[in-house]
Amino acid sequence: MKADEPHFDYDDSFRDNFAAVDNTTGKRNWFYPQKPTGKWHNRRAWFTILQLGVMFGLPFVKVNGQPLFLFNILERKFIVFGIFIGPQDYWLFGLMMISFFVFIVLFTTVFGRIWCGWACPQTVFMEMVFRKIEYWIEGDWKAQSALAKAPWTNDKVIKRSLKVVIFMASSFLIANLLLSYFVGIDRLYRIIEEPISAHLTLFLGICAFTLVFFFNFAWLRDQACTVVCPYGRLQGVLLDKNSIVVAYDYKRGEPREKLRRGVERTAGDCISCFQCVNVCPTGIDIRNGTQMECVNCTACIDACDNIMDKVGLPKGLIRYDSENNIAAGKSKFITTRTIAYAILFAALSIGLGYAILTRSDTETTLFRAPGSRYIENPDGTISNLYTFKLFNKTNHAIQPDMRIISPKGTLKFAGIPNLSLEGASMVEGSVFITVPKSALKKRTTKVQLAVYADGKRLEEFKTTFIAPEE
Ligand code: SF4
Ligand code: SF4
Repeated sequence: MKADEPHFDYDDSFRDNFAAVDNTTGKRNWFYPQKPTGKWHNRRAWFTILQLGVMFGLPFVKVNGQPLFLFNILERKFIVFGIFIGPQDYWLFGLMMISFFVFIVLFTTVFGRIWCGWACPQTVFMEMVFRKIEYWIEGDWKAQSALAKAPWTNDKVIKRSLKVVIFMASSFLIANLLLSYFVGIDRLYRIIEEPISAHLTLFLGICAFTLVFFFNFAWLRDQACTVVCPYGRLQGVLLDKNSIVVAYDYKRGEPREKLRRGVERTAGDCISCFQCVNVCPTGIDIRNGTQMECVNCTACIDACDNIMDKVGLPKGLIRYDSENNIAAGKSKFITTRTIAYAILFAALSIGLGYAILTRSDTETTLFRAPGSRYIENPDGTISNLYTFKLFNKTNHAIQPDMRIISPKGTLKFAGIPNLSLEGASMVEGSVFITVPKSALKKRTTKVQLAVYADGKRLEEFKTTFIAPEE
């Protein structure tokens, strides 16, 4: 650190502890966060409504009769933005994933963990759905804590049973949502309408995922973010001092001091009310600085703003800001790092766009049959024998037709290959290409071929034709 660089000396022994574990007993600390209220929470609530609408609505959206998105891992069928990705285009799926990963890295470097707080399904379902159900049944944090310690009275049995039933029903709904992205909404309908025995595996899959989601939202909770999630672990390398995070303005807040009526205040603006800690779903104190456990849920911003309002101090003691801006009043949005990530992302996006736009519906490989030579026909033409494989890369049936474009010649299949291709299927066989000797000036000639379906040219490719020396 430079001598003139502003800094804040604080006790960082909190980093030796994990808020979710009791240091004395080694047992889990169960958090009962106070119900969040305020401007940021309202914004998140609206965003959640929008997001859940999109998440539950997308499986119903179809493009040319197929889903907009499908991630059928078992049958290895993927549809992204209506583009079917079969086995021949897995590299395209890989490129999409790499581009998405670079985008996440770039986005996180600039905007921190906005994804976690606003859009991650774990946080959205946990904080905006399951937690709200819990507040509705068991009351706010103190009531929940009291209920947990209370003996099993009728009241507790009713509340806990109701919670389990609603949590289980919500988990079942989410499991169905997940399955609609796996197998498509049409198949999900069939699973619902037809006897269970006809779809036993998928039905058991729904049951298993229902239990997994129930376990996650009823028990694992904050630990999914603080212990399990790999994205959370990466924050240490993705964030820098210019990243926008939920941050406590220690320059304004310190030294902390309780508010005393009638006594002139000389300390910082933090009145040590602990409201920011009480609302935190991961049990941390944001005043200690940016921590891996912070999922940027904004609850502490609202809690502190509400307190600042009450005591007549300016809001924003906890806010979205960068460490550099808090420390020195200046923050760089564009850094060498963000420029490098942006260039990489742009290059990947251009490459991806080009690959998608130039992608053909079929992919054909055609090679001269091993060990074969040219055949001189009595009518003055030359024939070569080839083996071919023709892949239908679409998700629907096609009737492809292979034609020779140049030089003028004919194409005759050896045998009768079935060229009626189902979606994502392949045909292979042998074919003779015959060309008049007059069109062959050299020993080797490039032959241009194309694949058509419904009168539309789907693909062009070349092969080598050999003829006797003149
Ligand atoms: S520190 Fe604040 S933003 Fe971070 S998880 Fe806790 S309440 Fe949410
Ligand atoms: S809510 Fe604000 S004033 Fe209260 S302890 Fe947290 S930072 Fe300090």
